[in-house]
Amino acid sequence: MSTVLYLAHTECDGTLHKSALEALTAAKALAEGMGAELAAGVIGSEVSAAADSIAGCGAKFYGVSGPDFSDARYASDLAAAEAIAKACDAEIVVASATSRFSRALPGLAIRLGGRVDTHLSGLEVLDGKPVAKRWFYRQRMEGTLIREERPWVLTLDSGCADGFVGAGSADVESLAVDVSGVRTRVTGMECPSEDEQTIRPDAELLFVTGAGWTKKQADGSVHVDVAEEVILNFLNTTKCSLGSSKSLVDISGEGGSIISFLTHMHQVGQTGSSPRHAKGLSSCCHGEEPHVVGWRFINERRAINTDAGCGWAQGKCDVLYVGDAFEIMKKVNEFLG
Ligand SMILES: Cc1cc2nc3c(=O)[nH]c(=O)nc-3n(C[C@H](O)[C@H](O)[C@H](O)COP(=O)(O)OP(=O)(O)OC[C@H]3O[C@@H](n4cnc5c(N)ncnc54)[C@H](O)[C@@H]3O)c2cc1C
Repeated sequence: MSTVLYLAHTECDGTLHKSALEALTAAKALAEGMGAELAAGVIGSEVSAAADSIAGCGAKFYGVSGPDFSDARYASDLAAAEAIAKACDAEIVVASATSRFSRALPGLAIRLGGRVDTHLSGLEVLDGKPVAKRWFYRQRMEGTLIREERPWVLTLDSGCADGFVGAGSADVESLAVDVSGVRTRVTGMECPSEDEQTIRPDAELLFVTGAGWTKKQADGSVHVDVAEEVILNFLNTTKCSLGSSKSLVDISGEGGSIISFLTHMHQVGQTGSSPRHAKGLSSCCHGEEPHVVGWRFINERRAINTDAGCGWAQGKCDVLYVGDAFEIMKKVNEFLG
């Protein structure tokens, strides 16, 4: 009987991330559909609590643990994954596409003489064989991938399956992996503060800023300093995710006054991103089609614009507030306290 191996690494607190639980749901369904055994491998400084948290999946558990495996490090992560994959003779390996596994698992496919496909959006079984799905052209086309080569390593993007729920008591077979020869040392982490990181894919709300924030206002002056304060205030209070129109992020290249915390990574639209949030609020952005196309996965859309005839008014949002975004957002911030 073939084996589908689910791989996970623990977080700093020893738990499994939501995306790891999602990958388990996908791996379990794949194993069931293929009539294969499910094995689970957990890597981290301490793995038993994490294994217990998903013991209900019914897998045979393997663990590689110890201080050498607490942090993301290509060589030790790869050695651990290789030991687990060989211990269970995995035909398929499924893991979530975390930055840690995105670095290490392509190397696993090379070591095992297999193949890897990354950033997948779904897994299914067709005629007893695994099929992987992946978006192309910024989510405009979904590709279906079938491979004969084995082992096949698959990493799944977050948000593509429900998180597995089913704790219990796992009987973990501990594997000893010697990484004393690894020269890379993890000396610490430097992370931006939560408030510096304004792209928050898991937030419920997307707040989009447009070039209007840097344009001359009714009094004939620009007020970029006020705009920055109002926007940051709203972001920090609501912990929403920040997006931008192309015009606003391009201003830096044109020498205009800029919103200092915006980068091209924030750009939403045809040549930007298509984020997935339950709600979106656009401000000082015209709502032209190349921008709004990036909103196709946003369910509830609202916009603030002084112009009642702006693009948003042409059936592109659910509610358009016709008014001055400076005044409206200041008031909103007041309400939020
Ligand atoms: C091939 C191609 C690809 C593109 N890709 C993208 C893309 O990926 N993403 C993208 O965003 N654009 C993209 N664009 C550009 C897009 O067409 C628009 O030019 C751009 O989105 C306009 O940005 P904006 O609405 O912020 O600026 P503007 O068009 O300058 O609009 C500013 C708006 O702010 C409003 N405003 C001003 N002051 C206030 C205030 N106080 N209160 C409320 N409202 C106010 C104004 O009424 C105006 O509607 C692309 C264009 C092309 C040709």
